[in-house]
Amino acid sequence: MYPKSLIRVFERAAAFILEADGRATGLTGAGISVASGIPAFRGSQGLWDKYDPSEYAEISSFRRQPEKVWGMLGEMLAVVEKAQPNKAHKSLAKLEGKGLLQSLITQNVDGLHQAAGNRKVIEFHGATRHLCCLECDWRWANFKLSKCKNMPPRCQECGAILKPDVVFFGEQIPKWALLEASSAAEKAKVMLVVGTSANVHPAAEMPILTKKAGGRVIEINLGPTSLSGPVSDLTILGPADEVLPEIVAACERLSGSE
Ligand SMILES: [Zn+2]
Repeated sequence: MYPKSLIRVFERAAAFILEADGRATGLTGAGISVASGIPAFRGSQGLWDKYDPSEYAEISSFRRQPEKVWGMLGEMLAVVEKAQPNKAHKSLAKLEGKGLLQSLITQNVDGLHQAAGNRKVIEFHGATRHLCCLECDWRWANFKLSKCKNMPPRCQECGAILKPDVVFFGEQIPKWALLEASSAAEKAKVMLVVGTSANVHPAAEMPILTKKAGGRVIEINLGPTSLSGPVSDLTILGPADEVLPEIVAACERLSGSE
């Protein structure tokens, strides 16, 4: 059981969400998927610990040596394909199911929000499950590494090596994703920031957009970030897969929908 003081914090977050009356959105980052076995890129056991991002994450590297970059991508896709949504993903899906969460902006490329049941997900940095051809725009939706016999996967139109439809360093965030996310952030009465230090731009601006438009920002992270204090109305430090289920339970208690 949690101490009463912490339960009151969960209830405060729940009250903010309920007051938003469906006009809430979320911004999630790598921290939410760690409990699903996907290590953050940066940090120990992260991919950038093993692979130098300047050699593997730059779009120019992919264009020059796609086979080499697929060495890293194959490893990444294998981890993502095995991963299952955790309690944090499931809690956000529950909030959407209850009509309390309008949309979700994610910096993650793992598709775990959709796997948990969220339908309105704006994938800011793309998704590893979709592949695209840099030569002819041919696309392979819902690619499965486990079912691919010949690696690296090639375009069925022109034979070029395909690229996961994720934003590499040196590539722009798709305009539509930026527009949709900014609009969701501006309209939101509450933004739940989960598992992201929000220092990668332009995702980092989303909570600020909400705040400037008069909304509230609830932050759930393991440690304080640049948002804590100046931007966040409520900062809850703790693992998202423990905190979010408590907030959902508090929403149910407060709204009498237990
Ligand atoms: Zn092609």
